[in-house]
Amino acid sequence: MRKSTLLLLVLLAGCDQVKDRFSGPKTSFDGQAALGFAKAQLDFGPRVPGTPAHEKAGDWIVAEMKKRTDSVIVQSWTQTTAKGVKLPLRNILARFNPTATQRVLYLTHWDTRPTADEDPNLGAKTQSFPAANDGASGVGMFVAMADVFKKTPPSVGVDLLFVDGEDWGGFDPDTTGAYRDALFGSQYFADHLPSPDYKPLYGALFDMIGDADLQIYQEANSVQMAPEVVNRVWTTAAELGYGKYFINQVGQQITDDHLPLLKKGLRVIDIIDIQFGVLPRVHDAFTPVSPNYHHTTQDTFDKISAKSLQVVGDVAVTLVK
Ligand SMILES: [Zn+2]
Repeated sequence: MRKSTLLLLVLLAGCDQVKDRFSGPKTSFDGQAALGFAKAQLDFGPRVPGTPAHEKAGDWIVAEMKKRTDSVIVQSWTQTTAKGVKLPLRNILARFNPTATQRVLYLTHWDTRPTADEDPNLGAKTQSFPAANDGASGVGMFVAMADVFKKTPPSVGVDLLFVDGEDWGGFDPDTTGAYRDALFGSQYFADHLPSPDYKPLYGALFDMIGDADLQIYQEANSVQMAPEVVNRVWTTAAELGYGKYFINQVGQQITDDHLPLLKKGLRVIDIIDIQFGVLPRVHDAFTPVSPNYHHTTQDTFDKISAKSLQVVGDVAVTLVK
């Protein structure tokens, strides 16, 4: 995903009073297990589309979902990139209670960006990177979440969607508003919904949610286009005592997998911690911070934590009744 330069006024009242109230799991979601599932992906290597590691990781997700969910749909296609490269991509849709009309859609991307192009070290910009947070964390959380729903089936339908090709290249739309070099999987899903009348009650994209220093601001496009979903998620987080992590302020506008779905009329928000790294808390979504490990070779396993996955997993599970 990519940040835009749009700036919004942020009010900073009272942030320092928000205490860290993390006192262990609030649901049966297992953050430590989620971390283990993230590690399992890193062991394949960078999951760059077109590589053996990508193929193996996709097969692994399919197998893990078949063990846990009621139905698994794989969407496979060949994507032509803006530069004419042809990529074998797969979306994986794992469903609980597939016939229920009332559904919740959760999505996360499973691919890895080909190169660490934001790395401050010039020599590293062309290297691949583990992408522990930017990809593996969301997938790890989803596998652990599937364990929860297998054990305690939800009353509504739940769709866990693993989208491919989110992070391939540039994030600018073309003149028609279509994304031609990134967000491939979410665009494909928007164009190939599981049924013509597919309309989840609400949806959430989880991206970069493993950061050991978790600070999730309300993403500005989400606030603008699906404010009721943002409100529902942040209220739930506050009720769980997670106001320190789900910060009740509007942050940056981010181009991410929720946009093709929002444009299709689905109520999907982006839950993302774009300030990646253990930092002194700035309590401000716009102050430039350093380090930021996003799209660098520093996006490694030691930068993500079971605690952060627990916080986000607890919120995601609590939202589903
Ligand atoms: Zn990325």
